Amino acid sequence: MTTVIDGKAVAASVIETVKSATRTLETEAGVRAGLAVVIVGDDPASHAYVSAKSRMAKECGFLSVQHTLPEATSQEELAALVAELNADPAIHGILVQLPLPKHLQSEPIIQSILPEKDVDGLHVVNAGKVATGDLEGGLVSCTPAGAMVFVRRTHGEDLSGLNAVVIGRSNLFGKPMSALLLAANATVTTAHSRTKDLPAVCRNADILVAAVGRPEMVKADWVKPGALLIDVGINRVPALERGEGKTKLVGDVAFEDCAKVASVITPVPGGVGPMTIAMLMANTIIAAYRRAGRKPPKF
Ligand code: NAP
Repeated sequence: MTTVIDGKAVAASVIETVKSATRTLETEAGVRAGLAVVIVGDDPASHAYVSAKSRMAKECGFLSVQHTLPEATSQEELAALVAELNADPAIHGILVQLPLPKHLQSEPIIQSILPEKDVDGLHVVNAGKVATGDLEGGLVSCTPAGAMVFVRRTHGEDLSGLNAVVIGRSNLFGKPMSALLLAANATVTTAHSRTKDLPAVCRNADILVAAVGRPEMVKADWVKPGALLIDVGINRVPALERGEGKTKLVGDVAFEDCAKVASVITPVPGGVGPMTIAMLMANTIIAAYRRAGRKPPKF
């Protein structure tokens, strides 16, 4: 029997832990966790993401602050807002929604966020801590942190003796995911567009993670029988069966066929996706606990 991971349910359990930790921090230390989300411009998809994040922050009991800046905002104005939020003791987490409008440079903005408030885990200090296996001191990028929750719930904390293959080497996902698996003692291969005979590399994986952005690329005969298969890809494709002009979301994994071979698999949508916002909330409460000099909860 194949287990299909219910990402919404796992995300909900993470959120419950965040809510309870938020109440504890407030009653025992008098500190309310605070998350500031910054959005520049009018991109509708970005606005939808930001609203969902702000809503979830409120639901967790955080002080939730949203800064909506006009498209014409200058680099200096955005940098000044980040500096203000860095200095604000009520704010424990800062998220600048990407992508920024074309005239703005995102990298200097992201790198100007204090690492201890960088709840997206994109600052080089946080990326460096993940790369060096220092998982207690930094903040881990939200999507790989979420995928690791699935890995731990399937295999426990110690992945000794297991082979893991991550397809994709982006800074946002592939690299930190490989580093997290390695820190948990898996034997890790990071595959990418230049990898030779990718199906053969994948067939060796007890844990196979696909983060490419190519619809249903991973086929059933790439999957080792009994593997844990985590699909990070989000691809919108035509869905003619639903009618003319209709679309649907699929992952990087050919789900129906691969589910017959894997022992545990994540669906798209409803797998890794819901974990990203949940881990953003987790990072915010971790940042608030550290700031208050307390040991943060584990996720
Ligand atoms: P990305 O920066 O575009 O990286 C894609 C990676 O896939 C690259 O390393 C690329 O290799 C590799 N690749 C491309 N074609 C390949 C091929 N034919 N065979 C093997 N590897 C190939 O993407 P990303 O930001 O990591 O995101 C990947 C996917 O995950 C996207 O669908 C994205 O939407 C999704 N995603 C979802 C969430 C979420 O659920 N919240 C979060 C982040 C990302 P090279 O480096 O050699 O070019």
